[in-house]
Amino acid sequence: MSEYAALLNQQKKTYLSGVTKPIEFRKEQLKKLKLLLKENEEVLTDAVHMDFKKPAFETFGTEIGLIIGEINYALKNLDDWVAPEKVPTSLVNFPSENYILKEPYGSVLIIAPWNYPVQLCLLPLVGALAAGNTAIIKPSELTPHTSSALSDLVALYFPSDIVAVCEGGLETSSALLELDFDYIFFTGSTRVGKIIMQSAATRLIPVTLELGGKTPCIVDETANLEISAKRIAWGKFVNAGQTCVAPDYLLVHPTIKEEFLNELKSAITSLYGDDPEQSEDYPRIINENHFNRLSSFLEDGEVVFGGQTNAEANYISPTILDEVIWDDSIMQDEVFGPILPVLTYSDLKDAVTQIRKAPRPLALYIFTSDEDTEKHFLENVSFGGGAINDTIAQLGNHHLSFGGVGASGFGSYHGKASFDSFSHQKSIMKKNFLVDIPIRYAPYDGKMKWLKTIFR
Ligand code: NAD
Repeated sequence: MSEYAALLNQQKKTYLSGVTKPIEFRKEQLKKLKLLLKENEEVLTDAVHMDFKKPAFETFGTEIGLIIGEINYALKNLDDWVAPEKVPTSLVNFPSENYILKEPYGSVLIIAPWNYPVQLCLLPLVGALAAGNTAIIKPSELTPHTSSALSDLVALYFPSDIVAVCEGGLETSSALLELDFDYIFFTGSTRVGKIIMQSAATRLIPVTLELGGKTPCIVDETANLEISAKRIAWGKFVNAGQTCVAPDYLLVHPTIKEEFLNELKSAITSLYGDDPEQSEDYPRIINENHFNRLSSFLEDGEVVFGGQTNAEANYISPTILDEVIWDDSIMQDEVFGPILPVLTYSDLKDAVTQIRKAPRPLALYIFTSDEDTEKHFLENVSFGGGAINDTIAQLGNHHLSFGGVGASGFGSYHGKASFDSFSHQKSIMKKNFLVDIPIRYAPYDGKMKWLKTIFR
């Protein structure tokens, strides 16, 4: 038996013993996770910085702080979430009691990408633990410092039959996918998402797929251009554009394009100064492969801002690429880096037609003061979730579930949705022995009219 199979067996045994189910036990695990984050904020921040020079402010705001906020929210609401949900009965089943039990799946696998290397391992874990599961986490091999720190810390704070980290790349992932998990929560690319789903299908393991896509960002002629530029520059260049819900490309109304691009240039300069390579607040591209992939996009359109690179440091400056067309290579797949292609649209119908050239995106952003325009995009474009007059900020609200649709994935999490994702809804009807209405039993002769009356 492989090392991973033995680990899963141990977790399954623990799960089946029932120890993970009591609410108090779940709360203890969540508190332990919070303690891990609080006591090791510096260790984790340093590890992420070593991996791609991410500033401490961003690591706290978009990773550690976000997870602590989710833990607090789960701790506050767990009693309500776990309580059986009473539902009404139906006429044909009168009298009966009906309720839905929230049952943990059992032993779950969490596979994470590199771009928010702490958040995307531990935020799903909050849901898994709140719902009473055990979990094995497979972090990304592209952030070795963070993965190793997570592995050490999880081993220090949790017994391995409750939570364990398995480090490694494709080999580790493939070996884990051979095993009989009760649920798989995958965050990563659409390409690998298909591999995960195929593998899970052989054992009918339910999956959540949190994938990527080309997130459109529309700016119309009624938007406040100065504020829009600041919010777009922030959402695009935080984490050096390596964010699944970053604006992937701009669709700008031609009448305000020039003015808007000027605002955008000022906004970027005020974020990172005249030479962003010297800014402590601007991260690096994760590795040479991604650096080369992104650098090749600089051949497309016309660089109207930025465009500086430093291969030795995997540095690409915040870049605006104007005059881009859909046939350009940058428009064929998710950009996932600090290069912002700019396209224009003639009218709303044209904008929707252009957005539909790419598979259904994870997010969409509309900058407008016109409610009809807002409504037009919300009603005519399918996307995971989004924001009006802001970018990425929607992820900071526990009350909004987060997930994709179509090629950007399915299933959702954050807040209560995390608990729901990791829980099976077990529907129960309870009857008593006092009443037993005979209409359902054969012989049926003469009963059809009663049956029809009930259903009609
Ligand atoms: P990736 O799909 O290459 O890797 C994700 C994980 O899968 C890693 O742990 C990796 O080791 C593993 N993996 C890679 N190839 C595998 C294979 N053949 N079989 C099994 N496992 C395999 O993604 P990435 O490059 O780490 O991350 C970037 C992608 O993730 C982008 O597409 C981005 O949009 C997406 N993403 C989505 C979200 C979201 O919440 N929807 C969040 C962050 C990133």
